[in-house]
Amino acid sequence: MLGNRVLNYHPVCTFIPKLMRIINKRVLNEVVANATIWGADLAALFLPRHCAGCDTGLNRNEECLCLACLEDLPRTRYHEDPSNPVEQLFWGKVPIHAASAFLHFARSGVTQRMLHRLKYKKDHDVGSMLGGLMATELRDSPRFGSVDAFIPVPLHPKKERIRGFNQSKLLVEGMNKVWPKPMLNDQLLRVVQTTTQTRRGRLDRWTNVKEAFHIPDPVALQGLHVLLVDDVVTTGATIEGCVKALAVVPRIKVSLFTAACA
Ligand SMILES: [Zn+2]
Repeated sequence: MLGNRVLNYHPVCTFIPKLMRIINKRVLNEVVANATIWGADLAALFLPRHCAGCDTGLNRNEECLCLACLEDLPRTRYHEDPSNPVEQLFWGKVPIHAASAFLHFARSGVTQRMLHRLKYKKDHDVGSMLGGLMATELRDSPRFGSVDAFIPVPLHPKKERIRGFNQSKLLVEGMNKVWPKPMLNDQLLRVVQTTTQTRRGRLDRWTNVKEAFHIPDPVALQGLHVLLVDDVVTTGATIEGCVKALAVVPRIKVSLFTAACA
């Protein structure tokens, strides 16, 4: 009867399937790796990616920016200077522990093109990459090292709904990949929709934003060193509004880091 027979396999019979399994695994891994590269090349052929700074085609290993633009980014290197131009915007107005910007902003420059792609072309990859670069530069800075949490400068919920996202939140998400800190997204709310800032005078801008922010739970923030994150700082009026609102929190320390300063 077949059920009672003891089958004695020749050693070769057990070795061959083992060998086949090893070969298959290696071959399969190589095929998958090659297919991924071919897939990326094929995608690049039909859906070419372009540098967010100069619009030239990107290589497989380049992420949003070509190597030349990455090298030439107009970094401010303000972070360790307590009297840098960003920090000076708030002197005599609101208490800021430390403030800095990652890049200089110039019309038609790399920074403007990147921020335009982030904000108006909804290129989330640019936000993620910029946030990553910002955090890499700031996380070892002694003046910012004690930061406990990130607060993206909020948009009014209606504006965020229309745009579909908040660019500052995308920057914080990118920062978090290299410098993990809690993102306190709902601790600073924009409660009044401000009209467009660009054509207003300084005093006018300030009256426009001073009542715009609200802290729903001051106790949750007490004693923390929070880092406000925004895309661009120009006159600083929006940030002044944020810091004034945060002043109700006991023992809070507020710092600021933006992707660019104009
Ligand atoms: Zn480029």
